[in-house]
Amino acid sequence: MAVLHDLNADLHAHSTVSDGTLEPAVLVRRAADKGVELFALTDHDELGGLETAIDAAAQAGMRFVPGVEISVTYAEQTVHIVGLGIDPKSDVLRDGLADVRSGRLRRAKEMAAALAAVGIAGALEGALAYADNINLISRTHFARWLVATGHCEDVREVFGKYLVAGKPGYVAHRWARLSDAVSWINTAGGVAVIAHPGRYRFSETEAWALYSEFKEAGGTAIEVATSNHTADQVKRYAKVAREFELEASRGSDFHDPAESHAELGRVCRLPDSLLPVWHRFV
Ligand code: AMP
Ligand code: MN
Ligand code: MN
Ligand code: MN
Repeated sequence: MAVLHDLNADLHAHSTVSDGTLEPAVLVRRAADKGVELFALTDHDELGGLETAIDAAAQAGMRFVPGVEISVTYAEQTVHIVGLGIDPKSDVLRDGLADVRSGRLRRAKEMAAALAAVGIAGALEGALAYADNINLISRTHFARWLVATGHCEDVREVFGKYLVAGKPGYVAHRWARLSDAVSWINTAGGVAVIAHPGRYRFSETEAWALYSEFKEAGGTAIEVATSNHTADQVKRYAKVAREFELEASRGSDFHDPAESHAELGRVCRLPDSLLPVWHRFV
């Protein structure tokens, strides 16, 4: 068991196919250089980087798990569900993700209008210039533009002052249903993982309902070790994993060398009491 826990698994990261800044092959090589032994690319709502990443991982001699991070709306909040070990060719998953992506450009236009209303003009063109994949225009691209134009010091500051509920530039959006996201992942042969649970602002009751409904829908695991979590949160979600009999995952949620909380492969070890979800991939 110790060997499994000690494996340097990083099962959550982004490339330029969504809102990361490194091309899939560059990201994969960086992961290998940083000592990652089992790596998953999990772009938001997109599978487009997986083929290249699979080849790059094979070349680097690093084990690779095809992944995705699906945007879900649950109890009026956005929840992210990571799919691991999915078949990138699955039609059910591909069609589901195409649906999830379809509203992004419209939302981006509304976000730009909301920013213009507080005197920040040109945000749509600005954000698009940062998006490699126009179908995946995201708040991160707006955030980078807001930093580049001097409205904020860094991306973290943006998510305190703009683009979040109650702040300028925020536009409510309806993503996939929890049960649909889990079912697409399972149909594609993968396992579903609740991403960065510490980031959500649910009441105890809502959080309990999320975990139960996730289990009920066929969900498998929860991220316990992620760069977003404090040591206390690692303990809290380890407890959740045990109570709900969920396996545990670990991921850096890496987006960019300068922006991200953690470097690839530099996330804390999982507590011994948990079953690492990667027992399935080694
Ligand atoms: P979207 O899918 O367009 O709503 O954008 C969500 C992305 O914004 C996330 O995947 C993160 O990359 C980024 N993000 C959201 N909240 C924060 C935050 N508090 N700090 C840094 N990045 C954030
Ligand atoms: Mn992101
Ligand atoms: Mn996420
Ligand atoms: Mn992520």
